[in-house]
Amino acid sequence: MNASELTELATTVPLADNHCHGVVGTPVTAATFDDLATESDRPQPAGFTVFDSPLGVAIRAECAPLLGLPRHVSAEEYLAGRAAVGDEEVSRRLLTATGISHYLIDTGYRSDDILSPEATAALGGGTSREIVRIEVLAEALAAEGVGADEFGARFAERLAAETRAAAGLKTVIAYRFGLDFDPARPSPAEVAAAAGEWLGAGPSGAGGRWRLDHPVLLRSVLWAGVDTGLPLQFHVGFGDSDIVMHRNDPSKMTGFLHATVDTGTSVMLLHCYPFIREAGYLAEVYPHVYFDTGAILHYTGASCRALIAQSLELAPFAKLVFSSDAFGLPELYHLGALLWRRGIGAIMSGWVERDEISGQDAARYLHAIAHGNVERVYGLESA
Ligand SMILES: [Zn+2]
Repeated sequence: MNASELTELATTVPLADNHCHGVVGTPVTAATFDDLATESDRPQPAGFTVFDSPLGVAIRAECAPLLGLPRHVSAEEYLAGRAAVGDEEVSRRLLTATGISHYLIDTGYRSDDILSPEATAALGGGTSREIVRIEVLAEALAAEGVGADEFGARFAERLAAETRAAAGLKTVIAYRFGLDFDPARPSPAEVAAAAGEWLGAGPSGAGGRWRLDHPVLLRSVLWAGVDTGLPLQFHVGFGDSDIVMHRNDPSKMTGFLHATVDTGTSVMLLHCYPFIREAGYLAEVYPHVYFDTGAILHYTGASCRALIAQSLELAPFAKLVFSSDAFGLPELYHLGALLWRRGIGAIMSGWVERDEISGQDAARYLHAIAHGNVERVYGLESA
């Protein structure tokens, strides 16, 4: 396989998306973009909109042609053209263009605003499996009423029931505490005492909702997750303003990785920006650690190739996986797939051109990163 054949393979290879969310089921307006095309919850400076960011520029350049519009249309023209095509048809075109065959969908965030995993995957002609957020299950238990002494046992029961059909688990301990958490598994007595404190304090989340933020309980549900043996996804780095970025370096959880290395549970580091090199190092050293660069491909737009190159620097090719981390807007799935395909195709074909790798090896690794590694770790059917 020569360099140009490899570039072509990168544009057509099936993708298994390690982490994404459902697509929105409500009409998409300018306000939807203000909400979903940035991680900020504050308005843009006067005279600018979300369409003036690397992501906004990429949307107007790369998504416009699929809606019958010229590249680089204005935000107004884009929104008008989008409305003329219609939300469902826009979603169908943009998702079909991704070539994603498997969608692993995190259902634990704003699940009332987005379509189900089945409906999302059907729009793109793929299949879906659910990823269950462990903190959400603890919050549901609290809302239903659970005693402090029974919290640990009831959580394990709930986790078993909710994960019968799930492909994996996700934790947002990065948001709720930081990745510098105590790696030790808390004792039953510590869990009961912590549950007493958390339940006694009452709901602390927005809108009077329960929010699991007790450090001991976060560790307790994390270890219950490890016990299931399912792949366990960690939010790492880039996210909204709830993140304390300097506590999101994944090397801060080295103690936990050391403690779980022989459990049989795979640890999947998501997004990783700006800690892509730290994640690559951990994936190189720990056999159960994998990582992706989801979300940051579309958020960095034209600059994402440098980040894809970083992700390819050190870790074995069996340890890196594709993810879009698209949420809501179908544009984000399309950009995640397109920018990744274009970037990795350019990088790997350059290697082949300079005879730094054989075309055959490059093709094998491209298949592994695009879909094979995810299929193997989660036990999915091969695309
Ligand atoms: Zn996500």
